Amino acid sequence: MDPRGSVARVRTYPTTRRERFGACGPLWVRLPGIDVPWTRLAGRVLESYERDGLVAFASPWRGLLDEFADHLAGAADKDDLGGVIGEWLLDKDEVDEVFADDRALARVVIEQARRLAAESSAEATAPAARDDEDDEDDDEPEPLDPELLAREAWIARWVRRPFTPRTREGDGASTASKFCGAALLRPGEAWPVCPGCGQPMRLFVQLDLATLPPALPYPHREGMVQLFYCTNTDPLCEVDHEAWQPFGKSSLARWLSPAEQAHAAKSSSPLDHPPDDHPPEGPSDEPAAMILGWAQGSPELPEYEPDVPPPPDDMEIDEALRPRAGDKLGGWPAWVQGPEYPRCPRCKARMTVLLQLESNGLCRHQFGDLGAGHLCQCPEHPDVVAFGWACH
Ligand SMILES: [Zn+2]
Ligand SMILES: [Zn+2]
Repeated sequence: MDPRGSVARVRTYPTTRRERFGACGPLWVRLPGIDVPWTRLAGRVLESYERDGLVAFASPWRGLLDEFADHLAGAADKDDLGGVIGEWLLDKDEVDEVFADDRALARVVIEQARRLAAESSAEATAPAARDDEDDEDDDEPEPLDPELLAREAWIARWVRRPFTPRTREGDGASTASKFCGAALLRPGEAWPVCPGCGQPMRLFVQLDLATLPPALPYPHREGMVQLFYCTNTDPLCEVDHEAWQPFGKSSLARWLSPAEQAHAAKSSSPLDHPPDDHPPEGPSDEPAAMILGWAQGSPELPEYEPDVPPPPDDMEIDEALRPRAGDKLGGWPAWVQGPEYPRCPRCKARMTVLLQLESNGLCRHQFGDLGAGHLCQCPEHPDVVAFGWACH
């Protein structure tokens, strides 16, 4: 056997089960060392399981499997079979994501595979009438359980991967994505003051949406989102004006359109960029952190989300896959009190969470008793931005 992998045993199985999905024929391929644990094609699931040195690809969509089998057969003599498979997957216009390194999900898959293997060996000890046309069939595994597929399909449908910021200490240009520091302001604009107390607010974060990671599913890709927040303690605006409420009176969450952003960047002269230890209008002593990039985190599955159906068969979800706390972009929000999506006042749509801000995280503020906040944007109206937080 070629150690690089062989597709000599590629074959699809006609299904004997037509329950939940209709046709669901697993495709078994010998691909030692190739790790393609999870793939989702536009909501269609192509899954793989490792079992007895085989990788099983399964999908409720038979046509997808047939196409995949043809492709594998054509690639059998290639050195880099894993790369070829990855290319094929990414070539499909409809590919949302290819997960090739998800340890947490791989663990789930391997657990499932172990159970399958146990079930399979239990079946093998039972006498069964077989209609063998081919000796090779003797040790071929049975088609996957549709219930199992339903569970895996649920995971594939709802899994999300957040991004955590990679930062460098210190303020950057006013045009940069950053936590704290000097904000990008409209030409001639004074530093935003709190509508509640009239004192300057602090910049918590600003994100240049054009620099969001391409793999982040997010409706808006241009302009600059900013969050200013009143941290004054005399008066205690956060409490007096209920700053935990979205669209509150002691914070300013806003979006600069691409034109405004460009105009602001053009008019910000070098004089507006004094050294880091002298932030211009920024009234804060809190250290700024420039965002250099984003690191994709491991997968998360939703918990208590209003639009997500519960997992099939009371499936237990690994704690490691639950929404995680911390400053993060995308993923599933780790709600403190349960989901609190603001509604867009203009179209009533549920707003999309862009960024989770943790107490004493990069925005250097504690929300109540170690709560967390969420910066949201209307999926239809990019200029509608809101920030709210909750604590325990
Ligand atoms: Zn205030
Ligand atoms: Zn709206």
